[in-house]
Amino acid sequence: MKTLKTQVVIVGSGSAGLSAGFDLYQKKIPFIMLERGDKVGGAGKFGAHGVFAVHSKQQQAKGVTYDYADAFKGLTEYNHYFVNGELLARFLKLSGENIERMDAMGLSATVEQSEQKAHLNDPLVYHKFNNFKSKMDTWDAWPQKFADAGNPVLTETWAVGLDYDKDGGLKAVLAKNNNDEDLRIETSKVIFADGGYCGSQQMMAAKYSDNDALLNLGERKADGTGIKLCAEQGANVSHNPVLFAHGCAPSLRINPMRRQSSVETLTNLPLLWVDQTGNRFVNEDIVYDFAMWANAAHNVNGKYSVILDQATLDHFKQNVVPMEDTFERQFLEPGETPTGTVGPIPNIQADFDDAIVHGEVVKADTIEALAEKLGLPLTALKRTLKVYNQAVADGNDDTFLKSADELKFGVEQGPFYAIKERCAILGTLDGVHVDRNCQPVTKAGQPLKDLYIVGNNVNGLYSDGYPSYEGIANGFAFVSGWIAATEAGKSLQEA
Ligand SMILES: Cc1cc2nc3c(=O)[nH]c(=O)nc-3n(C[C@H](O)[C@H](O)[C@H](O)COP(=O)(O)OP(=O)(O)OC[C@H]3O[C@@H](n4cnc5c(N)ncnc54)[C@H](O)[C@@H]3O)c2cc1C
Repeated sequence: MKTLKTQVVIVGSGSAGLSAGFDLYQKKIPFIMLERGDKVGGAGKFGAHGVFAVHSKQQQAKGVTYDYADAFKGLTEYNHYFVNGELLARFLKLSGENIERMDAMGLSATVEQSEQKAHLNDPLVYHKFNNFKSKMDTWDAWPQKFADAGNPVLTETWAVGLDYDKDGGLKAVLAKNNNDEDLRIETSKVIFADGGYCGSQQMMAAKYSDNDALLNLGERKADGTGIKLCAEQGANVSHNPVLFAHGCAPSLRINPMRRQSSVETLTNLPLLWVDQTGNRFVNEDIVYDFAMWANAAHNVNGKYSVILDQATLDHFKQNVVPMEDTFERQFLEPGETPTGTVGPIPNIQADFDDAIVHGEVVKADTIEALAEKLGLPLTALKRTLKVYNQAVADGNDDTFLKSADELKFGVEQGPFYAIKERCAILGTLDGVHVDRNCQPVTKAGQPLKDLYIVGNNVNGLYSDGYPSYEGIANGFAFVSGWIAATEAGKSLQEA
């Protein structure tokens, strides 16, 4: 076994890990960062588009009046008081300064209107990265900077255990690397920033009955290591599961991160949706709120179908349709204006034919055949179409209340198509109970000495699902990494 020595081990190099590393680097506190992958970054690098903050300098300059008190009360009430108030407060109070700090890290962001049509009139809280590509490059440059200052970043190396004693505290973090070497890293503190557990089939299946249907766009190297190791030392991990459900898509091949197929464009519009019982289940306009859209799908076992007919497909092929693709704004750079329309889409038939071959779309000449191919009860499906077509004809959806301008496309004549949608997830958001310093606590509320846990690994911000406060998961990851590093540094000084 190889033995290394340092003062702090950071497990994971995503948003929370990088943020913790930056703090220790600035304070010249020696650390070793472990990263399971062959590159640094996690979901923070490959995924996130921005961060939430209140009271940033940019918000103050723009005269944004929404501030700490609004966010604190808003999130507490939104989550029905299932929050860790002290942690939420500390996060929110540091969130504004975190924007300047991220700027110093080379991760500049600009406060701007929400990316979601349902939230265009929300207060200005979302700070969007100025340039996605340069965010990735900045991240990739950090391991060298850390190493030059004497802080190795060990990629393809992952934490597997702790040498820990409740009274004596932490002695070492145990790790493995892809050369099958065992490492013992003697250290005084560890910060678990390993991104939750969406990569653990076992943990996911234990919490989610629709796990098989979920489309995992999250960091699949996150297998719950930190959560499990803290639990082994007595940390309280009992909490409602909090799925980071966000949008829906047919497959990993056709999803919003790729934006290559018009099957995805039609996924992102309020057309007719039916669940596994053949019934409508929501006002499809929910498509304009990513978290609530996915929650609605999660609520019907993680899957549903978009139903359309050939006439609708042909209409999109030839016309500009005044409906907004819900993901359009997410892929604009700051300052760019959305069109708010889709089409004409000349290649739509080819995209659908291709998706049929890959099983993402089902086509049938009759409703009977469509119901059979999808495994839906025919009577219910026929009733749904009848009621929906009447709503389109009347411009009045008196059940789900979809607005008249979104009731554009009835489903009348074959051939019929169904896009098979799945609830997409960006990760998980429950794990370990912590105190305001991001130290794991026991059921009795006792902090576990020398251990810190952050980012997607932590309970306390959400009751049961991701809220429509854009950028909050990533904002919290950066701030919690910073809190943990600050507290670990203080504790080292006091020792
Ligand atoms: C596609 C996508 C888009 C997103 N968009 C947004 C957004 O716009 N706004 C927002 O707020 N949030 C967004 N998120 C969520 C946000 O990215 C996460 O909340 C944030 O990255 C969490 O930070 P983290 O440090 O906890 O985990 P990550 O950033 O995922 O980092 C975890 C790291 O730990 C590593 N690791 C795992 N296990 C081990 C181990 N045992 N040893 C060593 N290393 C390990 C992983 O490989 C990974 O690099 C998005 C996520 C995705 C997937």
